[in-house]
Amino acid sequence: MTQGRTWAEIDLGAVRSNVRSILRRLRSGAELMAVVKADAYGHGAVRVAREALAAGASRLAVATPEEGVELRRAGISEPVLVFTDTPPEKFPLAAEYRLEVTAHSLPAARRIAGRPGLRAHLKVNTGMNRWGVSPEEAGEARKLLGERLAGVYTHVASADTDPETTRKQIERFESVLRAHPFSGALVHAANSAGTLWYPEAHYDCVRPGIALYGLHPLGDSGDPAGEGLRPALRLVSYVAQVRRLRPGDGVSYGLTFRAGEEMFAATVPVGYAEGYLRALSGRSRALIGGVRRPILGRVTMDAAVFAADESVSVGDEVVLLGEQGDERIPAEELAIWAGTINYEVTTRINPVRVERRYLRE
Ligand SMILES: *Cc1c(COP(=O)(O)O)cnc(C)c1O
Repeated sequence: MTQGRTWAEIDLGAVRSNVRSILRRLRSGAELMAVVKADAYGHGAVRVAREALAAGASRLAVATPEEGVELRRAGISEPVLVFTDTPPEKFPLAAEYRLEVTAHSLPAARRIAGRPGLRAHLKVNTGMNRWGVSPEEAGEARKLLGERLAGVYTHVASADTDPETTRKQIERFESVLRAHPFSGALVHAANSAGTLWYPEAHYDCVRPGIALYGLHPLGDSGDPAGEGLRPALRLVSYVAQVRRLRPGDGVSYGLTFRAGEEMFAATVPVGYAEGYLRALSGRSRALIGGVRRPILGRVTMDAAVFAADESVSVGDEVVLLGEQGDERIPAEELAIWAGTINYEVTTRINPVRVERRYLRE
């Protein structure tokens, strides 16, 4: 009998192997900044950060100052970059915990320059049009930041799908680097897709996120194994109840599934509050006894029901994401069923409901 409800099993050996696999592809001397924002895409920021650093990463990145503080409080001392906008009221926090912030605009660069002890990376918008100063503003921003400038970076919008646009972004970034002396600043541009497929964009440092977790940067297609990556997370639950259905019996809210013949149904305590997306209703499969079992009807807040047979018993392990025996449900396949991407599949796993259990091999 399995203990607990639904848990996420995280294989730190896979994280280590993915970091090493990425490091082997880097231009000599390039550093790896492990992106552990959003609780390491649902894998647990502190554990993943420690593992990535032990495997050869030399820096970390997060989305918010609070995420950086969590790493510092766990005793991690390597450089941590905050990607999104850090509002001025968070500057004391960023300075106290030695977090490097991002300067996204000229006013932000001016504010950062006015706050002693703060270091910043300048973000240059080369076409994604989300964050960053324009290429024309980069020189002035550099001057404003002066000694406080720790790095300069850009972000590519479609390294996964559009080589032509990506090369144009890289070219725009390089023209900014040629026009201004960013000497001493760490130059970086590549997310996972950029790291895997655009070696010319490795510069001083790469910023992979999704690839660290053994997930494919294409999001809803592509096999991570094809890129030498190993998925690190399994989402596991158990059969809490088994019942026999008669022809015509409906299952779950709205009774959208109707049994066509006599069959068994297994109730599993995983719902959209765990992060098992409601969009999986009527579409997904789970592994029980090494066999793919279709979901019956809607995902509810706290449970989902899957097709079963005489071989399924209360207490059996249910794998919603990952491997069981010779079968496997990759995050990329769940993403297709739910109409989303693997990034969202793991990031949505709710840590309040779903305990993380760590494996090291
Ligand atoms: C999230 C993020 C990354 C990592 O992206 P992946 O596609 O997960 O590798 C890199 N850089 C920035 C600025 C990001 O916001």
